[in-house]
Amino acid sequence: MARIVQKYGGTSVADVERIRCVAARVKKCHDAGNDVVVVVSARSGVTNELIGKARYLNPAPNDREMDMLLAVGEQETIALTAMAIHAMGTPAVSRTGAQAGILTDPAHTRARIVSINADNIEAALRDRNVVIVAGFQGVNAEGQITTLGRGGSDLSAIAVASAVKADLCQIFTDVDGVYTADPRVVPDARKIPEVSYDEMLELASMGSKVMQARAVEFAKKFGVVFEVRSSFNENPGTIVKEEIASMEDVVVRGVAVDKNQVKVTVSNISDQPGTASRVFQALAEAEVNVDMIVQNVGRGGRANLTFTVPRDEAGRAKKAVETALATIGGGSVDVTNEVAKLSVVGVGMRTHSGVASTLFTSLAEKNVNIQLISTSEIKISVAIDLDRADEAVRAVHEAFGLGSGEGDRP
Ligand code: ADP
Ligand code: ASP
Ligand code: MG
Repeated sequence: MARIVQKYGGTSVADVERIRCVAARVKKCHDAGNDVVVVVSARSGVTNELIGKARYLNPAPNDREMDMLLAVGEQETIALTAMAIHAMGTPAVSRTGAQAGILTDPAHTRARIVSINADNIEAALRDRNVVIVAGFQGVNAEGQITTLGRGGSDLSAIAVASAVKADLCQIFTDVDGVYTADPRVVPDARKIPEVSYDEMLELASMGSKVMQARAVEFAKKFGVVFEVRSSFNENPGTIVKEEIASMEDVVVRGVAVDKNQVKVTVSNISDQPGTASRVFQALAEAEVNVDMIVQNVGRGGRANLTFTVPRDEAGRAKKAVETALATIGGGSVDVTNEVAKLSVVGVGMRTHSGVASTLFTSLAEKNVNIQLISTSEIKISVAIDLDRADEAVRAVHEAFGLGSGEGDRP
């Protein structure tokens, strides 16, 4: 007998038939004698639909009310899943985030989990119930409902697995695991059997939607080993765990792309100590996530700064920089264009050279212009034209020999 946490994403619970399939899978696991905690997302499309309604009524909805609204999506799924399991003769109870003891900080729409009091879940498990927890939501110290950022049910599952000391945490989704690139964009992408926390974290942060980055961060911090696998078949998935030595043999584990970035250019600013600090301090205060920063060589005492920010933070970024510029001797700010950020990720980069050259050559061969570059120990990212992104990912994927057809080629 084991203790198992299973998370089912939006497409896996998209309608009543799929919820019934999930219920059958859960029942099978429970019948085998396991303690089973299930974390579910809202049905696919529901969260987006709720956001659409909110924005229709108010272009800048209040964050507390937004959380009140968005939590509804997951609440529908937990109740329906419990009912489907009951119909199969298995005891089950649903729990909202608050009822499951998920305490968060006060930051509405992007809350962080502070702690989980699992007493309630434990009691229900002792009575042999399947416990179904609403993903993506928690409660703050004032009793207000909070949500954990888009894709946050992944985080709920990892955190619950840690709190109940699960033997196994399974993230069920609509693909067979973590692939070398998004299989919907790169048809010959391969499933990766094992990936380290650090690689998964970079892939997720750089746009691979398959796992929420904050969930991976939490798993790494608390050592939660988890498996990403399909809810539509029995194929083994991808194990995400602490790095082992042999992982460094692979130079590039995968390619990620983020299509939600814009380039911001700050021109004609004074080229002296403290300028960048003021600009980025203002951006930090406005909670803008800045990446890929470049400052050109100053001329005549003036310089230009360019960086990327997520598209929906562009307005905030512009305002923050304008305010800062007014206090540091002028300059102007432009949100110039939408870009895609393409990244290659692998722990093997620490010990192998030539990654940048292969990346840049493969893009040059496709005549894709590189606008910005940034690197970390296990990642190289480039900003490129948004409309060339898919073509570029396929070219880079092939250049690093990541495709499944590789061995068969003449
Ligand atoms: P869920 O609703 O189960 O949380 P998501 O839609 O959030 O599922 O994530 C799964 C999707 O992530 C897949 O359908 C796939 O298109 C996309 N994806 C992006 N990059 C990758 C990758 N490297 N490996 C697997 N899937 C990826
Ligand atoms: N329903 C939420 C979202 O769409 C959380 C999740 O699915 O993980 O972002
Ligand atoms: Mg998801």
